[in-house]
Amino acid sequence: MAFEVRNLSDGFGRSFSYVRLSVTEVCNFRCTYCLPDGWKKTRPLSFLTPAETANLAAAFAEVGVSKIRLTGGEPSVRPDLAEIIAHLAAVEGLTKIAMTTNGWNLERRVTQWRNAGLSHLNVSVDSLDRQRFHEITGHDRLPAVLAGIDRALGLDFASVKLNAVLLKSTAEAGFDVWAEFVRHRPVAVRFIELMRTGDNADYFAANHVRGSIVTDWLEAAGWQLQPKLKDGGPANEYAHPDYVGRIGLIAPYAAGFCDGCNRLRVTARGKLRLCLFGEGGCDLRDLLQRADDRSALIERISGALTGKPAGHRLKDNLPGDLRYLAELGG
Ligand code: SAM
Ligand code: SF4
Repeated sequence: MAFEVRNLSDGFGRSFSYVRLSVTEVCNFRCTYCLPDGWKKTRPLSFLTPAETANLAAAFAEVGVSKIRLTGGEPSVRPDLAEIIAHLAAVEGLTKIAMTTNGWNLERRVTQWRNAGLSHLNVSVDSLDRQRFHEITGHDRLPAVLAGIDRALGLDFASVKLNAVLLKSTAEAGFDVWAEFVRHRPVAVRFIELMRTGDNADYFAANHVRGSIVTDWLEAAGWQLQPKLKDGGPANEYAHPDYVGRIGLIAPYAAGFCDGCNRLRVTARGKLRLCLFGEGGCDLRDLLQRADDRSALIERISGALTGKPAGHRLKDNLPGDLRYLAELGG
């Protein structure tokens, strides 16, 4: 009997409509919590080609995936990024082509990405203080990144969001400056609670603060929690009548965080990863060359899903085998 999969689901009743696809391990920033010594080449660069990403995306779309986020490393270091975006945008059934970037060259390239079919843009900005941004990322580029965000806001994206890793120093500086940033800008700023990875144990111990510090501030300042959209991500977002934008929190350590997991990950070398904080991965690369027959690829992805765990074990201090998030794209 022919093997047929109509949508991807696991043994815990969760179905998967969202894939995070890393397109490179390379990064040009040195974020203190991710790649403090910068990215270093340890093996030949052999990342998925635009044609392979297109075949992968088409297979996922066939079984109900409607959103793909490009991530990395830093996706914008790939010279063929616009080509990758255009390939994904041409896949029937994919309605959201998203990307997370550190904002490198954003002002110069965002129009090209938008024209290629990018629909949702997330830019990582950990601090609105120029010196602090420089200290965290290793680059004095805050004004350029902010100019890129303002250019993106004129391009009719379905959404433009900012990611800010929540650090002790961010919390100490307070959140008023972020509220001011979204007063007239239709952007959502989402704080991401710092996550423990294989390489950042000491950094985590020194810099992690609980996400409730953000939500306590928001609630005290009159911000109101918004209902989540059905296929929405893990962020809890707050709105306030005096502000156009929103502020939110992604709190991976909160109870129940994994219950609504709707995402899968694929590495830049074509390995399916079931959980950010899991181990190993299922190699798909040998099946990514053929555009005409996707059934073996779908069968392998679907079979691997039976091994997806109920949740991560960060609370037990077990971050899996991930050394830093640039390996997988967050
Ligand atoms: N280079 C791109 C960027 O920085 O936007 C995409 C890849 S980066 C790994 C994806 C997201 O993960 C970024 O928003 C980054 O701030 C976040 N991130 C990286 N390491 C993290 C950690 N240990 N805890 C929480 N967020 C982290
Ligand atoms: Fe690079 Fe993104 Fe990691 Fe920063 S968070 S070092 S920009 S991959």
